[in-house]
Amino acid sequence: MALFKCSECGKEISDKAERCPYCGCPIKEIKKAALQDKVSTLKSNKKKVYIVGSIAIAFAVFALVLFFYFKDRPPSEEELLIGKWQGQGTNLNITVELNVYESKTLDYYIHTKQDTSDVEDKKWIIKDGFLCIAEKDSDKYRQWFKILKLTEHEFEYKVKNLDPESEWGHIRVTRISD
Ligand SMILES: [Zn+2]
Repeated sequence: MALFKCSECGKEISDKAERCPYCGCPIKEIKKAALQDKVSTLKSNKKKVYIVGSIAIAFAVFALVLFFYFKDRPPSEEELLIGKWQGQGTNLNITVELNVYESKTLDYYIHTKQDTSDVEDKKWIIKDGFLCIAEKDSDKYRQWFKILKLTEHEFEYKVKNLDPESEWGHIRVTRISD
């Protein structure tokens, strides 16, 4: 003989009884209610699993995005922002905005905004005393940069495309903020 709770009055009753001896509710009704209760518990558990699963997937995607975003950048604790600079080419038709960082891995790390193009994160390397921009994910150098002087408020650099025919261009930039 198994005991279970009456869905109407909450008292423990035998499953052999036809009706609840306390409130008179038919056993059939009580069993049906108990079954419905079980089904809805199962359904809500399933819902919980979906919600927890979706949150876990969202976190995993977020972590992946962060990973790829920071993958190619030098670690931030190695970067020291020298300042924000803005400048114009003296014999180049460009306007640039630069965030110049000093870093342990590169002499200078420059976050470039040029003309109408969006801010680009470029991979900078030092090669033969020059600062070079490499195409992202490639060792092909697109431009040579040489910082000529770097003072507190102004610096000048020269630029040359890898095309051997190209001329050196000078860009003078001034600090707009720290
Ligand atoms: Zn009852």
